[in-house]
Amino acid sequence: MATKACPICKRPVVVAHAPFCSDRCRKVDLHRWMSEVYAVPTAEQVTDEGDGDRVDEES
Ligand SMILES: [Zn+2]
Repeated sequence: MATKACPICKRPVVVAHAPFCSDRCRKVDLHRWMSEVYAVPTAEQVTDEGDGDRVDEES
């Protein structure tokens, strides 16, 4: 079996913290992931708000 490397710091993965080497790296990865998620749906939310305009109701 090949030893997997932590995606954050490239150290050998610890089974208890897989797929990371430590709880710290797990949190770092989670933080990165959330930052990306926040960046993507912003445009979607704005579009959704624009579609829900009250123009249809007034006419
Ligand atoms: Zn790590």
